[in-house]
Amino acid sequence: MKRYQRIRALIIAIFLLGVALQGCARTAGPQEYRKDIFALNTWVNIRIYTGKEGPDILDKAIKRIEEIENRMSVTIQDSDVSRINSNAGKQPVKVHDDTFEVIKKALEYAEISNGVFDITIYPIVKLWGITSEHPRVPTEAEIQDKLRFVDYRNVVLNEAEKTVYLKEPGMGIDLGAIAKGYAADEVARILKEEGVVHALINMGGNVVAMGGKPNGQPWRIGVQDPRAEGARRHIAIIEVMDGSVVSSGDYERYFEEAGKRYHHIFDPSTGYPANSGLMATTVVAPNSIDADALSTTVFVMGVERGLELVDKLEGIDALAITFDKKIYTSKGLKGKLIVTDKEYELQP
Ligand code: ADP
Ligand code: MG
Repeated sequence: MKRYQRIRALIIAIFLLGVALQGCARTAGPQEYRKDIFALNTWVNIRIYTGKEGPDILDKAIKRIEEIENRMSVTIQDSDVSRINSNAGKQPVKVHDDTFEVIKKALEYAEISNGVFDITIYPIVKLWGITSEHPRVPTEAEIQDKLRFVDYRNVVLNEAEKTVYLKEPGMGIDLGAIAKGYAADEVARILKEEGVVHALINMGGNVVAMGGKPNGQPWRIGVQDPRAEGARRHIAIIEVMDGSVVSSGDYERYFEEAGKRYHHIFDPSTGYPANSGLMATTVVAPNSIDADALSTTVFVMGVERGLELVDKLEGIDALAITFDKKIYTSKGLKGKLIVTDKEYELQP
């Protein structure tokens, strides 16, 4: 009888110890910390798993995003970009390393894409007023007039001096298609530096996944339904441990006139919103800056040219969604995309 009681006590003790250890693991282990802010013209959400230093780490990340915004925004008066634009045709402008690096990368993508990706699109962006309160469809003459200033080959970089010069008066640059990617990479870099292993960064469709979920599973990134009007719902899922998933589409920013949709991604060869048969594109890449530049590029190029380009680039994948709800993927994504909406048809 005594022996039985001892065994019972032992079992209870082991059970209690188990409960206690589990409790410890829960309080001492990483916790989830989140932050939502509006920056770079979009909602930014950062989710990290770490100890009680979480809020400080998040503050550091947010400060960095604001710093980047202050340097690269086209609407902030004394940003590097505004100073470059107001000195077009006048003189080279000294910029922060951040800005220089992003412009340099943008020009690389302009070369790779043969000018499909072109940050000197700004005069066209401004003409259409896409980012303003009063967007409108310009006349053909107005478009031709502004199109003269769109040419990335007239951006002159001086690596030693860290200056940027726009050769022609009337030119302007806009880093809207690439700056968020850079900012997301910078946030990821800071989080890593601070010892964060698991994190998910979402800057308005510019996602960076770090270290998989805390439970060891990959992050599941939703591909947004391009026609879900306001509501957030996904039509497919991409699983990623580490890397970036960035989407571009005609649903992000647009206005309608006479029943026609005019969106914010322009074809530099026409001066009109890109009309390549796509509603959206998503690019998967190790770095967000590449995914960002390429999602815009593939969107303008369309299925054939866009995916052909992506297939040539090492470690980069993409999908493209056409108006008739077909999903085309690059070679590396075959068999990996999880389509969750029956209306969308995955192409072999
Ligand atoms: P989002 O800003 O919705 O994430 P993108 O990354 O595709 O989408 O960037 C679109 C922005 O990039 C536009 O608002 C405009 O400022 C700029 N842009 C538009 N067309 C081009 C282009 N062909 N090349 C480079 N930048 C562009
Ligand atoms: Mg982009």
